[in-house]
Amino acid sequence: MSSVRGRLRFKVLSIALALILGGGVVKTSGYIAFGSKAVLVDALTSVAAALGGFIVLVTMRISLSPPDIDHPYGHERIAYGGALGVLIAYSIAAGAAIVSIGPPEPYTIDSRASITALIGTALYVAAIILARIDPVGGSVLAVFTWSEVFEGLVSAAAAYAGASLSYIIDYVGGLAILAYLLASLYRESKGLTLKISDITEKDVTIKVRKLLESRKFKVKSLRVRTIIPGRYAGDAIIIAPRGTSLEAANILVDEITEALLKENIDLVVHIDLETAEQPA
Ligand SMILES: [Zn+2]
Repeated sequence: MSSVRGRLRFKVLSIALALILGGGVVKTSGYIAFGSKAVLVDALTSVAAALGGFIVLVTMRISLSPPDIDHPYGHERIAYGGALGVLIAYSIAAGAAIVSIGPPEPYTIDSRASITALIGTALYVAAIILARIDPVGGSVLAVFTWSEVFEGLVSAAAAYAGASLSYIIDYVGGLAILAYLLASLYRESKGLTLKISDITEKDVTIKVRKLLESRKFKVKSLRVRTIIPGRYAGDAIIIAPRGTSLEAANILVDEITEALLKENIDLVVHIDLETAEQPA
């Protein structure tokens, strides 16, 4: 990826993070002033989103560095530390929410708590749209922040009903947001594990195979793994057509690997020459 694009992504995420932080501050003050526990749980997840977003920015900046001695394949995968940071921040928020929501004892809520929840949520919507631009950290952040919008609306409704009807509605609203947060943590942990598991992308593998076969090579083995979405590395063992010299095959393979490198696919190719003993 070009550094110009990297800088743009960095700037865009910084703005998104500022919006998320603003949303967290509005909701937190709404809890302190108006007493809604649903808004409290929501506020905790907002603060976690801001903290997670900060970790995404830091790791993303490092991931843009060029390859060096200890990272010969480049630093792109450091961006996954951002996704991990988001998970850790939300896990802390879940723990804090469990502790602070406490037993279901009566408490009073001011209906204005719902207004602070709505203002905070509006700031989030703007942040999500911006954060979606980044494919790694942003996608994880965006998944959580869409849940923030859902949580914000639930907390606003729960606080309003809690103020006008019974505190129990507000309390149950808080529990519902907490349950959703726990489910999201499970889903995202699973997703991140899959992403860092050297998974392949079917379309990319098919593209590489077709390119090799279009030059009359037989593909004996082909392995392509995802470094980060949009960047791939792999190896192939191919058999050159009968009568082709190693020199001629090398020229063709160099053309292929150079073309693939332009599409962010780093392929190492081993060429076997077809011999009489080899089955066709
Ligand atoms: Zn390094």
